Amino acid sequence: MNLADLTRYWGRARPRQQAIVFGDTAQTWAELDAVTDALARGLAARGVRKGDRVAVMMLNRPELAHVIVATLKLGAVSVPLNFRLTARELAPLLVDAAPRVVVVEDDLSALLEAGAAQTEFEIYSVDGDSHRPYPSLLDPGAAPVVEIAGDDPAFICYTSGTTGVQKGAVITHRSAIAPGISQTVSYGFTARDRVLCSAPLVYTGSVLSVFMQLVVVPGATMVLLREYDPEIALDTFERERITATTTVPVIWERMTTLPGFGKRKLANFTFAATGGAPVSADLLECYRRQGIPLTQVYGLTEASGMVASLTYEDALSRPGFTGRALVGTRVRIGEPGEHTPPGEVGEILVHGEHVMREYWNRPEATAAALTDGWLRTGDLGLQDEDGFLKIVDRSKDMLISGGLNVYPAEIEQVLHGIEGLVDLAVIGVTDDRWGEVPMVVFHSARPSAEVAADIAAVAAVNLATFKRPKHAVELGEPLPRTFSGKLAKPALRQRFPAAPAEAVPLD
Ligand code: ATP
Repeated sequence: MNLADLTRYWGRARPRQQAIVFGDTAQTWAELDAVTDALARGLAARGVRKGDRVAVMMLNRPELAHVIVATLKLGAVSVPLNFRLTARELAPLLVDAAPRVVVVEDDLSALLEAGAAQTEFEIYSVDGDSHRPYPSLLDPGAAPVVEIAGDDPAFICYTSGTTGVQKGAVITHRSAIAPGISQTVSYGFTARDRVLCSAPLVYTGSVLSVFMQLVVVPGATMVLLREYDPEIALDTFERERITATTTVPVIWERMTTLPGFGKRKLANFTFAATGGAPVSADLLECYRRQGIPLTQVYGLTEASGMVASLTYEDALSRPGFTGRALVGTRVRIGEPGEHTPPGEVGEILVHGEHVMREYWNRPEATAAALTDGWLRTGDLGLQDEDGFLKIVDRSKDMLISGGLNVYPAEIEQVLHGIEGLVDLAVIGVTDDRWGEVPMVVFHSARPSAEVAADIAAVAAVNLATFKRPKHAVELGEPLPRTFSGKLAKPALRQRFPAAPAEAVPLD
């Protein structure tokens, strides 16, 4: 099975059903199939062949989805580029992927300049005249016939880089489809589902976990928002009768702060998922009170976005867990070939068709990440007796205090509900006595001394002594986040290798 055949299949099996809804416009599966055939012909006429890369960089709009699907139809490799990166950050990605063609919005094309100086590609612009015009790529007719195997690369997805250098995960057709089939089996997705895509479609979580897996696999409808805005997203849930979506916790969180949130009619949801970062129990509970079965999922780019998910029923009995491995996927804790007993923390290893083939152009990084098909995730977790997975923290975020492992994510969960706390993160800072100790970096609507006192009080009741934060520092502004909304901990660690003079001591 491959993604090109799936799109064609829905074009024929459900021609009149909506495939993409964008603002006031809607496109059926037959229209999507036809326009992507025309685009595939145009790209082929410009020399794009199987295995070539076609990069795309736009804010959300139907053409973005069209370029991705047309690329897949040619057996070429789609490279979604993040427009939040700077020209300097994009240049090495362009050199690494070496695309033959890049399709952009005119407003973003300056971001390609540094890369264009280092490697050659043709630029097409969807809405301007500073480059080759996109309409010239549309050549109505059937797409060229290309043999595509499940193991052929479909995407190169660059990790968003919260841990350093951006690496391109090579996702095959099979690995992009596998989590979609697993989730369809588990949650019963059908062509009647209406799926919201609010985050940029160039992010792995959107292009794989939403577009490919929740829309292309079951032949559902994708409602695409131009730009993420919590109010518009919430309105769209109601107006478009959205049944499924998955996004990072911070986006769900922002919606809860909108006036009238509690009165919204959101009963259509059958799958509301949050993952990509630690999730607080308060957030899950807040949506549950609204009748939305918000469940936690766990995934990473290198595993096509999805590894484990929790059913609504299990979510009620297992707060804090991210569920079981998806059907067809295996999860283990520890080293490949080793069986860590239930309840013990170790590195999460993942095996299955959804695991990437390799890192593009990086054999050493590939060898370090993959052993006998097992992917080292760099995340720490545990499994209970029934195989339910709990994410403990990223191994890079863990600190060692007096020889004991301390997981900042656990401390953050405990401190989450403190009144007036707008944002918080826990990082390790050096300490003469213990080596490292946890420090809270926060932003608050209340005086910082009061908040620091609350942090100490809540920690004293809920955390063992060695896990209690020893310092707290008010940042005076929201904490730095990555473009996908995750806390940018490396930036915080870099800024605070040790507790700064203004930090409040908590002991
Ligand atoms: P990089 O891999 O470069 O750090 P990134 O964080 O953006 O970038 P992604 O593949 O987008 O990489 O995110 C995957 C990571 O998100 C996981 O490895 C894990 O650390 C975190 N994550 C995903 N789901 C959850 C979850 N439910 N709870 C806690 N953390 C999660």
